[in-house]
Amino acid sequence: MTLGLGIESTAHTFSASVVDDKGKIYANVKSIYRPPSGSGIHPREASRHHAEAAPSVLMSALKESNTDYKSLDFIAYSAGPGLGPCLRVGATVARFISAYYGIPLVPVHHGVGHIELGSMLTDANDPLVLLLSGGHTMVLAAVNERWRVFGETLDLTLGQLIDQFGRAIGLASPAGPAVERLAEKGTSYIDMPYVVKGNDLSFSGLLTSVKRKILSESQENLAFSLQETAFAMLSEVTERALALIHKKELLIVGGVAANARLQQMMKLVSNRHGCEIKSVPIEYAGDCGAQIAWTGMRYFKSGYTVQPQRAFVSQSWRIDEVKLPWRS
Ligand code: AMP
Ligand code: MG
Repeated sequence: MTLGLGIESTAHTFSASVVDDKGKIYANVKSIYRPPSGSGIHPREASRHHAEAAPSVLMSALKESNTDYKSLDFIAYSAGPGLGPCLRVGATVARFISAYYGIPLVPVHHGVGHIELGSMLTDANDPLVLLLSGGHTMVLAAVNERWRVFGETLDLTLGQLIDQFGRAIGLASPAGPAVERLAEKGTSYIDMPYVVKGNDLSFSGLLTSVKRKILSESQENLAFSLQETAFAMLSEVTERALALIHKKELLIVGGVAANARLQQMMKLVSNRHGCEIKSVPIEYAGDCGAQIAWTGMRYFKSGYTVQPQRAFVSQSWRIDEVKLPWRS
């Protein structure tokens, strides 16, 4: 049996997970940095949180998995994209454990991590993927060993749009679940800018518009209209991609995948195209060590590891630059 540890630290979450090569997740321990209400992630404060949380998160992950460092075949860490100070905490911890115990090291792209974990957990084979998180809003499919982009945001991600609206009405980040609850109580749609360019999306006009209406409209109706507009834009580009490449599975991953209204709209889209919808279970939708551990496993099995002194982090690392030896 092959056993690997994954460390996630790109943004608000420090997490560690142990998985085996059958896809069994023994532990997925998380500690999440919460900024004060009304403010976003402060990179230095988040990295301080991660450095403080790291020892206990790692210890709990190993304890829950009934294992120790010496039994690990590899250590994977999220190498980017993300906030520099946060990435460096995870990479430093991983590099140290790797060098001290002589365990091979695997750098993992955070977005690839979301997709590979989602594919494994939902048994998706060759899906069209919606990667919807704090850092990404992309429509992707695997072609020639890479995730190719069939549509993406030109400015804000869906997560940023929702969090920045949340911040403007005084909610703590990440605001997704609270905005979703407000939206459920919305009763009337307020007209909002709907911007699709080619097969790409732009959310900045939508954010400006919703912020301007904070004093004149109810928070419930604003949250409802924001979600309806943004998700309809995403539905349009998803539908166009499906019509073009005829995938039979639609996999939704990333923190925003937890949104029930989004899932409902995507179900309608996939039904129209004879496509099966696959949503990652909520526990694994957001950032977590399991996404890194499992993707690390795929690299390790493909013979890809790096020396600790070659361990890198990259704050902006496009997903379509990443080679995936296990995907044709
Ligand atoms: P990730 O970067 O994958 O952890 O995703 C984090 C993003 O997902 C944040 O912007 C959250 O606000 C967002 N999010 C989490 N839960 C929900 C939800 N129920 N509805 C919409 N967005 C959500
Ligand atoms: Mg993420």
